[in-house]
Parts: sequence; C-alpha cells; structure tokens
Amino acid sequence: MDEHNDHQSTPCIFCAIVQGAAPASRVYEDELVTAFMDIQPVNPGHVLVIPNNHAADLSELPGETGGRMFQVGQRIAAALRRSGLRCEGVNFFLADGEAAGQEVFHVHLHVLPRYTGDGFGFVFGPHYRNRPERSALDDAAARIRQGLEEAV
Ligand code: AMP
Ligand code: ZN
Repeated sequence: MDEHNDHQSTPCIFCAIVQGAAPASRVYEDELVTAFMDIQPVNPGHVLVIPNNHAADLSELPGETGGRMFQVGQRIAAALRRSGLRCEGVNFFLADGEAAGQEVFHVHLHVLPRYTGDGFGFVFGPHYRNRPERSALDDAAARIRQGLEEAV
C-alpha cells in the first residue's frame, strides 16, 4: 500500500485511519472500504467513505471499489435517516482534484446529512444562469463519448 502521493510527502492520514494508527470514529468497514466521521462536519453526522487501499484520486480507484463506496454510502444515507440525527435529505460529494476542492489526496465520498436552513450549499459561477444552446450540449456530449472510446 502506497501511503504517499504527489501532493504530500508525509504519510497519508486516511491510510493511517484504515490501519488503526490514527484516531477515527468508525461507522463501517469491510474488505474494500472504511467509513468514519468527518473531523470537521458540515452538519452532525457527516461521514466519509474511503477505499482501504490508497488511491489518490478517481483515476487510481478500481471500479469495483468505487461501486462499493457508493453502495456503502447508500446504506449510510439510510442509516442517517433512521439515526435520530437531523437528516431531511442527503448529499453525496466527491472532490476529484485540487480544482474540484480535493484537500486530502486519498479518495473519499462525503455523505452529508442535510436539513432545510442548514446554510450549506454550492456557489454557482456567473455563467450558470445562461442555458447553453443545444449545439453546445451536443458538442460536449460528442467530446465525452470520444473520451469514453479512447479509454476502452
Ligand atoms: P476534501 O476537501 O473533499 O478533500 O475533504 C477532506 C475532508 O477530510 C474534510 O471534510 C476534512 O474535514 C476531512 N478530514 C481531514 N482529516 C481528517 C481526519 N483525520 N479525520 C476525519 N476527517 C478528516
Ligand atoms: Zn492513503
């Protein structure tokens, strides 16, 4: 297991949590993933689901493990709604890359309990209000289809 990555020379904190070498309030673990409480929750009940094996970002994450992260996220979302913690809705959030807001370079899925008026939200850029022409959507779709073919 590689505990280092390009962004930090110190050992990876999330690998240390998987190994039991750093403190964490654990929610769930199996052979592929571990879930624990975020140390700085957006709302009470904010959970992170991570792969047990170090993967800095989505490009390094095996598809099977990514699927398990989502499945466990679903189960945690249901558990949050039963937990007595305030949870009227749930957001999944995953930051892949620095520009997307990733700060810890060991992939993690945020499972965020939400409630009306909690004050959390996304900030939309100035271009958001202008709906693009269909041709622009078609062009983007074609580019992504091409990208999918190149990856096969
Ligand atoms: P991101 O910006 O998506 O990379 O989010 C990193 C998240 O990891 C933040 O929400 C942090 O509060 C959380 N975090 C960082 N260190 C720890 C830790 N030792 N235990 C639990 N959560 C952590
Ligand atoms: Zn790691």
